[in-house]
Amino acid sequence: MQRDSFSCENYLVFSIYLLPMHLYNIHTHKIESAKENGYDIKCILNTYPGDFEQKKQMYPGIWFSCGIHPWFSDGSDELFTLLKKNVEDPDVVAIGEAGLDKLRGPDIAKQTVIFRKQAELAIEVQKPVIIHCVKAWDEMIALYKEYKGAVPWIIHGYRGNPEQTKQLCKAGFKFSLGEHFNRESVKHIPLNSVFCETDTSDVTICKVYENISAEIGLSLNRFATLAAENIKNTFR
Ligand SMILES: [Zn+2]
Repeated sequence: MQRDSFSCENYLVFSIYLLPMHLYNIHTHKIESAKENGYDIKCILNTYPGDFEQKKQMYPGIWFSCGIHPWFSDGSDELFTLLKKNVEDPDVVAIGEAGLDKLRGPDIAKQTVIFRKQAELAIEVQKPVIIHCVKAWDEMIALYKEYKGAVPWIIHGYRGNPEQTKQLCKAGFKFSLGEHFNRESVKHIPLNSVFCETDTSDVTICKVYENISAEIGLSLNRFATLAAENIKNTFR
């Protein structure tokens, strides 16, 4: 594929002649500015059951995800009841981050119980799941197959190697890439399964789009158009 690099700065020059385009940031813990180099930025702000209401007051009109992080899978019914209430809100467009982490948090059996409850809730409300997964890929793939991919599962902060990527693509997962990603793996991800994020990093979402589009050999605008299409098809 021909590499066609079109930087954020170039876009600024041309943007006066074009309608503003959206760059979607599907997983962030902080709100960025609404405009970046001429692009309109649309974020999905990550929240936890306990801070959703406060964040919603602070940032009216934006999109949210809400979930119980595997590190905090303490099994409290109270937390889950709160989550259930929050995800009914139309501004909550995804459940998560939720998942499995073998390096941190309670034991994997405990994490799995909480993750399953969230996976089932996602099917009930028909919203995608934003996945946090560390060293628990076999378990994650088995769970996805068990739930028959009833709603999209998007692995956030994905950095896996090409082999793992091929396996996850075959199973039907989607991917959100951020500041750090495996350059070889990107080529194996179908273009209808890729999203961008900043998570907790200080990098701008524009820079993330620029890096990924350069890696797959598309112009920034072409890639942004595809990513926007993915948003439309995944988050209703
Ligand atoms: Zn995060």
